[in-house]
Amino acid sequence: MPILSIFLLTAACLPVEWPAPPFGLGPGASAGLTAAAVLLPLAAAFAVRTWVVRALRRTPDRKVSIGQGYGRLRRVLFFVNLGTVVLSILGLGWGWTTQHTLKVTWDLELQLAPFAELAVPLPYFVLVFGCWLIYYDVDRALHHLSFGGAAGGRFWSRAGYFFHHLRQLALLVAFPVGLFVTQQTLTRFAPEASETDWYRAGSVGAVLVLILLMPLLMKPLLGLRSLPAGPTRDRIEALARRLHFRCADLLVWPTHGHTANAMIVGLIPRVRYVIFTDRILEEMPDDELDAVFGHEVGHARHGHIWFYALFLGLSMTALAAVMLLVVQELVVAGVTVPEGYSGWVTLPPVVLAAGYVFLVFGFLSRRCERQADVFGCRAVSCGDPACTGHHAATKYPDRGAGLCPTGIRTCARALERVFLMNGYDELEDSGRRTIGGAVRAAFGWLRAWQHSTIPRRVRFLLSLIDDRGRERRFQRRLVVLRWGLAIGLIAAIVLLGELVTWQELRKAM
Ligand SMILES: [Zn+2]
Ligand SMILES: [Zn+2]
Repeated sequence: MPILSIFLLTAACLPVEWPAPPFGLGPGASAGLTAAAVLLPLAAAFAVRTWVVRALRRTPDRKVSIGQGYGRLRRVLFFVNLGTVVLSILGLGWGWTTQHTLKVTWDLELQLAPFAELAVPLPYFVLVFGCWLIYYDVDRALHHLSFGGAAGGRFWSRAGYFFHHLRQLALLVAFPVGLFVTQQTLTRFAPEASETDWYRAGSVGAVLVLILLMPLLMKPLLGLRSLPAGPTRDRIEALARRLHFRCADLLVWPTHGHTANAMIVGLIPRVRYVIFTDRILEEMPDDELDAVFGHEVGHARHGHIWFYALFLGLSMTALAAVMLLVVQELVVAGVTVPEGYSGWVTLPPVVLAAGYVFLVFGFLSRRCERQADVFGCRAVSCGDPACTGHHAATKYPDRGAGLCPTGIRTCARALERVFLMNGYDELEDSGRRTIGGAVRAAFGWLRAWQHSTIPRRVRFLLSLIDDRGRERRFQRRLVVLRWGLAIGLIAAIVLLGELVTWQELRKAM
C-alpha cells in the first residue's frame, strides 16, 4: 500500500490553501478536533489488538483464522486511517492551521517556514507510529505461536520493531516526499533561482543520480547484511554465473522471521543488489530458492526496472502537458480561478496521476511480474521440454534457455510457499457471493494490484506445461504492450508539446 500513502502525503504537501476550520473555529480548536479525530482510530486499533491477543491466548490452535481476521481488520483500519487524515486536513481545518501558524519572516514578508508542508500530514505520521506501537503485541504473540521457543524465535523489542518499520517508511515514503518538499521550499525561498533552466536541469539530474544510487542508501537504511559465505551463497553465485547475471552483492534483510520475500534493486550491475529476507533463506528448499532468485534475475533480464523508470518519466511528462493544455483552454474560454483557490489547481494532477498509476502501471507491473515468474521457471529448467524430474546429473542450459515441466512446477511451488509463509488468506475462488466476500475480494485486489494474486500466477505457470504456445504468445503480447506504451506516450508528448508550446511545457515540469 505504500504507493497510496505516497500519493496522499504528496497531495497533503502541495501548496494548496486548505479550507479553514468549520464553524469559524480558531487554530487551537482545530488542533484539538484533529487530535480527537486521530485518537478514535488509535482506540479502535487498541481494541483490535486486545481482542486478538486475548483470543490467541485462549485458543492458540486457532491462530491461523485469528491471524486472518486480524489481517483483514488491520487493512480496514488502514483505510480508516487514510480517511481520518483526509478529514483532518479538509474538514477540520488542520491544513489551514499549520499554514497560518508555521510562519517565518523572509524578505520582510511572512512566509511558510521551510519544510512546514510536512506538518500538514502530521496526523498520518501520528497514526502510523501509534499503530506500530499498538500492533507490536499482536505480531509478537503470532510470532511466538509460529516459532515457539525454538531458535530464531526471538522477536524484536518494541523499540526494535518500531525502528524496523521506521526504516522502511523512511525509504518508501519520506524519501520521495522529502524530495518534493525540498523542491517546494527552494521555490519559496529562492523563487528567481528556481525559475531558471539550470535549476530545472539540476533537479532532474539530482533525482536521476538519487535513483541510480538508491541501492547504496538502502543497505545501511534497512540494516542489510552481505549473505555470509557458505553453501547457500555458493549455490546462488553459481546460478548467477549460469544465467550470466551480475550484481554488486547478495544481501540478507534481517526481519526476525517476520517476512518471506526477495527483491532486486538497482539499474546497473555495479549498484545492483538481490535481497533475501532471513525467513526465505531459512525455510525455502534449495531448488525453490533458485527459482525465487531466477524470478529476480528475470526482472533485470527483461529490463523491467529501466522500463518502469522510463514509463513513469514519460507518463508524468504527458500528464503535465495534459494539465497545461486544460489550463490554457480554460484561460482562452475566459474561466478564471477564484481568489484564494489558485493553489487548488495543483491538486487534480496529483489525483489524476494517482488514478493513472493505479490503473496503467498496475496492469503493466502485473504483466512484468508474470514474465519474471516465467524466467524463474527457466532458471531451474533443464533442456528437455518433456522431462519427468531432476537429479544430481541434470544439465541446465546457459542463460535460462530451457523451459521444462519440472522447472515450472518448482517455481509454482516456490510461489505457493511464499504465499503460505506470509500467511495470506485465500482471496479468490471461494465461490461465495456475500457482501463480506466482495469486500474481501476488493481488498485483495487493492493489495494485489501490483503483483496479481499468487493463485492466479501459479495457475498461469502450470498452464504452460500443457500449452507451450501460450508462453510464446504471452511474451509476444508483452513486447507489443511495452513498445505500444512507449511509442504512444512519446507520440502524445510530441503532439501535446506542439499544442501547448515546448517552452511552456518546460516551465511546467
Ligand atoms: Zn517480482
Ligand atoms: Zn527438466
